[in-house]
Amino acid sequence: MKKLRIKYNKKFLLKLFGAEAIVLYPYVLFRGSKESVSEQTYLHEYEHVRQVRESGFFSFYVSYIIYNFAGLIRYRNCFDAYYYIPYEEEARLAESDVMTDEIKEALSLC
Ligand SMILES: [Zn+2]
Repeated sequence: MKKLRIKYNKKFLLKLFGAEAIVLYPYVLFRGSKESVSEQTYLHEYEHVRQVRESGFFSFYVSYIIYNFAGLIRYRNCFDAYYYIPYEEEARLAESDVMTDEIKEALSLC
């Protein structure tokens, strides 16, 4: 398993994606500083890491894009298209998980 590369203060890049954070495996990029990122955001992004590792890099990103396009056709708005991507639904559920030592270690939080 690849070691994650955690980067903070990626304001410009994250603004382009309109996001607080993004997983470009093995990189996990955050818009804000380490101190400003919430536990909820860490858990959300770690779920995407788990999804990439489970599905495989290519399969995850290709299906993510396909789900997003299908959502755009279906909902005709960017927010809903993103919101209903199954990977995002799973990641939102993971936001209320318990932060384990394993996750902290993977995200270099300890
Ligand atoms: Zn997400």
